Amino acid sequence: MDYWFTIEPYVYFNVVNGKSLLYNTLDGAVIESDSIEVALLLQKIRIKENCGVVKLSNECSQKGDLKEFISEVRKKYMGDLIAVNLSKWKPVQVMPIFNYISNNTVELYKKHSITPYKNILNNLTDIYIHLNKNVDIEYLVLFLQSLPENLIINIIGNFDSVPKLDFLWDFLNASSAPKNIICSLEEFVLLNPVYKRNFYYRILVDNFVDVKLFNTSVLYLSQQLLSFEYIFNVTSIEECNKAEEIISQYGIQNCCINPIYTGENILFFEKYVYLSKEDILSTKISVKDIFSNQSINVYDFGKIHIMPNGDAYANVNHPILGNIYRDSIYEIVQKELDEGKSWFRIRNEAPCHNCLYQWLCPSPSDCEIQIGRSNLCFIK
Ligand code: SF4
Repeated sequence: MDYWFTIEPYVYFNVVNGKSLLYNTLDGAVIESDSIEVALLLQKIRIKENCGVVKLSNECSQKGDLKEFISEVRKKYMGDLIAVNLSKWKPVQVMPIFNYISNNTVELYKKHSITPYKNILNNLTDIYIHLNKNVDIEYLVLFLQSLPENLIINIIGNFDSVPKLDFLWDFLNASSAPKNIICSLEEFVLLNPVYKRNFYYRILVDNFVDVKLFNTSVLYLSQQLLSFEYIFNVTSIEECNKAEEIISQYGIQNCCINPIYTGENILFFEKYVYLSKEDILSTKISVKDIFSNQSINVYDFGKIHIMPNGDAYANVNHPILGNIYRDSIYEIVQKELDEGKSWFRIRNEAPCHNCLYQWLCPSPSDCEIQIGRSNLCFIK
């Protein structure tokens, strides 16, 4: 009897240099194989005309490597063998293949004279406003008024030196958009209490924590029932341990540890930050996550930073997109979509483009740019 062989639609698979990987997005189960027969079978399934199903003779399905592979696939609910005589015609299978931004789509837009940029500002989700003493608050507020409603507004900086700051707080206070203040511990303590209630706080804590200041902030946040998150910036394992001590001592629920590259702590990164195969596969990854990794940079997409002099960036490590004194938000976003390096920075370059885990790996982060490597792992 011959069989139809197929992989389930929730199973992501990849074949590179004769090696194969299958990942079950429902329960995180993995199958890896070095067998050429398995690689050829999976490649055949991927051919468009096969519609996700290939015919296997009984003899073929019982051969060494394939027999073992098919048995594991069935045991892990990742695919199936179906007797050919059970179906009148060849069945088809949906596969998790990303083809959203293909040349065909752009051609289709052109053919029907539809601009792919029709709702360009729908791509924008977050604005980061960087403040210092040179910022023109009145112009900045005018710019904020020109943005689509309900973008997330993030305010970052050294507030104490900013002229006419209350003008900005008044505007933000009246706005219904979600608002975050990203500031150091010192800045937080100095903020005007009148405005403190309407913001979500992301408080940056650097290594040598001033315990008195930290106590004051914890006390204040809990008494005032404010929404907040502490971000512990760490540059070594000692700082990391210290941050964990503080987190457990104060029972802090909302927090994260953020490794910072200083130019001199590559050993810390190699030992504690670089990804291993186990790190990648131990994180639950959905089909949607895999599609996101294939299409956009999940850290940068939708975000625009405005510097105190009006310069606009999608990522401050990449070239400037425009200036709010000269360009509209529409022009800034369009420039990123057309020529930008940030929103679509994905793992499509060496060595990641030739890696079995290419789309299971999270998007490249700023650490990759700062360290000057496109992969922070020892897998490649
Ligand atoms: S080479 Fe790239 S894709 Fe592969 S594991 Fe390393 S970082 Fe991830």
